[in-house]
Amino acid sequence: MRHTVTLIPGDGTGPELVEAAVRVLEATGITFDWDVQEAGEAALARYGVPLPDKVLESLRRTRVGLKGPITTPVGSGFRSVNVALRQELDLYACVRPCRTFPGVPAPFSGVDLVIVRENTEDVYAGVEFEADSAEAEQIRAWTGKRIRQDAAIALKPISAYGSRRVVEYAFEYAVRHRRRRVTAITKANIMKFTDGLFLREARQVAAAYAGRIEYSEVLVDAACMQLVTRPEEFDVLVMPNLYGDILSDLCAGLIGGLGMAPGVNAGDEIALFEPVHGSAPQFKGTNRLNPAAIILSGALMLRHLGEEAAASRVEAAVARVVREGTHVTFDLKPPGQQAAASGTREMADAIVRAMKEA
Ligand code: NAD
Repeated sequence: MRHTVTLIPGDGTGPELVEAAVRVLEATGITFDWDVQEAGEAALARYGVPLPDKVLESLRRTRVGLKGPITTPVGSGFRSVNVALRQELDLYACVRPCRTFPGVPAPFSGVDLVIVRENTEDVYAGVEFEADSAEAEQIRAWTGKRIRQDAAIALKPISAYGSRRVVEYAFEYAVRHRRRRVTAITKANIMKFTDGLFLREARQVAAAYAGRIEYSEVLVDAACMQLVTRPEEFDVLVMPNLYGDILSDLCAGLIGGLGMAPGVNAGDEIALFEPVHGSAPQFKGTNRLNPAAIILSGALMLRHLGEEAAASRVEAAVARVVREGTHVTFDLKPPGQQAAASGTREMADAIVRAMKEA
């Protein structure tokens, strides 16, 4: 069967990683009609905007996309294209499976957890006011709180609707993937109204799954401690946006780094697959970065498209190549052996070979 997929190469190291992923996905024998769309720096140069409408139109049409990372200038310039995509297309659940692969130098073995991050609300909603602005001054005066005169202010909207649907997504994911427990992560002891609301919704959803899926709650600070000491005790974790962003990178560290962490941003209609890592622009054009995260994101996409056998073949080939440890990028080589590392293209070639030999 042919699949039409929106392909966003992104910027920085995105295009070289996407090229590697496309090669591996096509080597499964499945036919893709790639609708290639520029976003980020390339789109800014060509169209004057980092996220042209035609990218959104393509994703609304194909309903499935594979995306390379996109750079966000820090502190100024355009707002994050990644955040805009999630908000414009209502991709409310960010799902990031984290599992250890034998052969990958990592602080733990036996990690197999999934982060489900709320993607549209929280401090990412973009309600932020500059220090010394009239709005910041109004908020300061209106709340009557002790906020310093020179403070910038961000608002943290968390709704019952947004919380409920992402927790439901996490429970449904747990059922579909035969997981045993969902843990809600918040800071509800301090943020009683926002995180408290998230937790209230989580409890209500959990009650509907009682007897099928276990439910637990951990505060985000305690969760960090437990994740870096006993990560194997976690299963599916669901949380508001900011905690999800931070814990995703922490969990990527548990399994050997960002090079091995795939993900998807999903709504009710559209799913956009992309690695957890960013555009690592300092590596642009060097052919050095690990393509496994985007290739594994592609495997998640194959499964979403109903191509279960092809997805398993890709995952098995990645697992074999990293287990053998010969044709892997620098991040997967033990200390002292970096000089023997393969490049992005060579590692992708090895994954293609492993698939053909299987
Ligand atoms: P990053 O994830 O791009 O890179 C951080 C470091 O992680 C790199 O220097 C590298 O050492 C390592 N790393 C990342 N990917 C790797 C891979 N595939 N193989 C091996 N090592 C890898 O994070 P950053 O430097 O904080 O962000 C760079 C840019 O990417 C920023 O503009 C940021 O906003 C953006 N970003 C985009 C996305 C996205 O497109 N979804 C996600 C995160 C960050």
